[in-house]
Amino acid sequence: LLQLYAPLNFLGSIYSSIRNSLVDLEHMLGLLDENVEVADPANPLPIAAHLKDAPPVSVEFRDVHFGYRKDREILHGVSFSVSPGGMVAIVGPTGAGKSTISRLLFRFYDTSSGQVMIDGHDVRDYRQSDLRAAIGVVPQDTVLFNDTIGYNIAYGRLGASPADIEQAARLARIHDFILSLPEGYNTRVGERGLKLSGGEKQRVAIARTILKDPRLLILDEATSALDTHTEREIQSALRAVSAERTTVVIAHRLSTIVEADEILVLGNGLVQERGCHADLIARNGLYAAMWAAQDSAPSEPVLEAESVSRA
Ligand code: ATP
Repeated sequence: LLQLYAPLNFLGSIYSSIRNSLVDLEHMLGLLDENVEVADPANPLPIAAHLKDAPPVSVEFRDVHFGYRKDREILHGVSFSVSPGGMVAIVGPTGAGKSTISRLLFRFYDTSSGQVMIDGHDVRDYRQSDLRAAIGVVPQDTVLFNDTIGYNIAYGRLGASPADIEQAARLARIHDFILSLPEGYNTRVGERGLKLSGGEKQRVAIARTILKDPRLLILDEATSALDTHTEREIQSALRAVSAERTTVVIAHRLSTIVEADEILVLGNGLVQERGCHADLIARNGLYAAMWAAQDSAPSEPVLEAESVSRA
């Protein structure tokens, strides 16, 4: 009987892992179902994504309310605008809804009320694939393919010439680093190749985005603290990618955003304070407190511990 028991036990555990996989699959399909409501319009407006010399876009949030679930609203009426080529930075404590704003720009979700506008039209008027082609994002964590570092940059615009790739790498301040690698642009990176540091990966992402040449740029800053030299290199790379391009920065380190046209301090789903750096410092409110906290602990991600109250 014991001899029979072991294989039966084994079969039982296989059965249970298959069942768990099916449950996971159901979850996945459930998630896919959730996005079905984001549908393309019958007559989409054109949005010039890749046209050379296409002007930067304008962006506007008009009294946007949104929740991932009906019973938990995350944004309670957020309004702001970015003029073509301008830069808006969004700061605030973790969970305030900063990344949610970037997801709404991509139209991964629809608002529950209010409007997200690009170039004066509701994002629902555009084809989703056009919208995503027109927006470039430098994410917090960049995923590298198991391929050469050259390919990883070229992914921004497949078919780009080696000269274009090198130009993008120079602007992103990663070219010299690449030349120092054993096989230069042909060095393999990713899980099975050379492991790059967070700062290097971020510069690869910036080079990729420079090649993509999007009309709207979203910078989702990494929370991790960087050493001063890397920080300076990244700042300069970010300046290259955001120059003359409409930019929304989700900022974790305030040094990036001193030059922003407008800074929004988001807290509890509302804009608690807004203005340029100098105005907000003079106001001596939440932003000024964040700035002071950063000054006293420069290597800490300072925004995480701030508490804000609903206006
Ligand atoms: P951080 O600085 O930590 O990145 P954030 O300000 O970007 O935070 P969001 O990611 O926009 O915050 O999240 C806002 C709120 O929405 C959080 O309370 C979060 O738990 C919730 N949330 C985010 N994504 C989802 C999701 N897919 N489903 C349900 N709730 C979500």
